[in-house]
Parts: sequence; C-alpha cells; structure tokens
Amino acid sequence: MHIVLLGAPGSGKGTQAQRLATGLGMQQLSTGELLRAAVSQRTAVGLAVQAAMEAGSLVPDETVLGMIRERLAADGATTQFILDGFPRTLAQARSLGDLLANLDQALRAVVYLEVDFDSLMKRLTGRRTCSETGQVLNIYYSSQADLDACRERGGELLQRDDDKEDTIRHRLEVYDRQTAPLIEHYRDEGLLRIVDADADVNTVYRRLTEALQG
Ligand code: AMP
Repeated sequence: MHIVLLGAPGSGKGTQAQRLATGLGMQQLSTGELLRAAVSQRTAVGLAVQAAMEAGSLVPDETVLGMIRERLAADGATTQFILDGFPRTLAQARSLGDLLANLDQALRAVVYLEVDFDSLMKRLTGRRTCSETGQVLNIYYSSQADLDACRERGGELLQRDDDKEDTIRHRLEVYDRQTAPLIEHYRDEGLLRIVDADADVNTVYRRLTEALQG
C-alpha cells in the first residue's frame, strides 16, 4: 500500500517523504528528484525535460508516468512507496489508479500538506541544498548551526534553478491550475487526509504520522 504526498511546491513534501521513509520503513519515490538526476546526467529524458523544468512548468504526463510505471512494476509488490510530487495532474492521477489496479496494488492514503501562500514563498526562496550531504536547509528557518555544519563539511548551500522568484510564482500558478484539483479527486475517492503543514518540520511530521494512523 503506497502513500501519496500532495501539496504545493514548498509545502514540505520532499522533507516529510524523507522522514516518513526512514520512520515507516518505506521508500521515497520523487519524480522531481528523478527528473533532476536525468537532467544532470544529460540522459535523453533529461535533455528533453530540461527547458520545462527550468521554466517551472510540468513535464509531459507520459514522461513521469513511464518512470513511475517502471518502479511500481519492478518493486511495488514488495516495497511501499511514498510518492512525492506525483501525481500532479488529473490525467496522472487517473493513470496511476489504472496502473495500480493492473498491478494489484493500491494507495493507502493521499496526504495533502496545506500551507498558505506567503509561507510557501518564504520556504521556496530560502530553500538551499547542501552539496555535501544532500540535506535540505532554509536560510530563513534552519539553525545557524545546521547551516554552518554544511560548510564545515566542505559543502556549499546550493539554490535550485527553479527556486528563483519569478519561476516560483509560475510554479505556484501551475500548481493551482493543474494540481490543486487533485484534492477534490482524492476526497471523492475517500483517500484524502489533510495536514496543517504551516509549522516546523517536527510538528508537521507528528501531524502526518497521526493522520496516517486514523
Ligand atoms: P519538484 O521537485 O517536485 O518540485 O519537481 C520539480 C519539477 O519537476 C517540476 O516543476 C516539474 O517541472 C517537474 N515534475 C516533477 N514531478 C512532475 C510530475 N509529476 N509531472 C510533471 N512534471 C513534474
């Protein structure tokens, strides 16, 4: 039984998926990370999606579906996945439903991480990734000790190309138009759990695990 984390860019899906994966013995499956890896390795898929990603637009449904299909078919029967950043359109959600049904797999829950617009902007503009540890930090919210720890280990705090202000606004519009309708879709399917994610990482994690128990 897999879990979907749904939420706007900056709502904390990636961070919480990492924590949940460790905490619940599941595996994070992030389309954004798979796509960024494809871009940095300059694979055929990477070269095809690079421009859309840099602009903060969605890549074609078929591209991400191919990635998800491959992982679920290979490991989905034995591994519980936390899908992070997928599905992002109604078409993707419907295809995921068909795919899972064909593989005799199912979703356990879809958790919507709810965060207001101003907090999303601050989280996204402040977000940095440590080049050494891969840890995601925020120049506004992380402790100075955590920020320093990255530099002390020889790392740099890197900003994602799509975390620049104009691109962020576009990504939030794309989210409103194409992804937010999934909230109703999964409510109708009886799978939706809503978590107030406008809080620190530990509090959100506690709320998330509680929401999954109910
Ligand atoms: P994320 O790390 O989830 O914010 O994703 C970064 C970027 O990857 C997005 O802005 C899109 O360009 C692309 N992307 C990730 N997941 C999807 C998806 N499910 N459908 C389409 N594009 C995606």
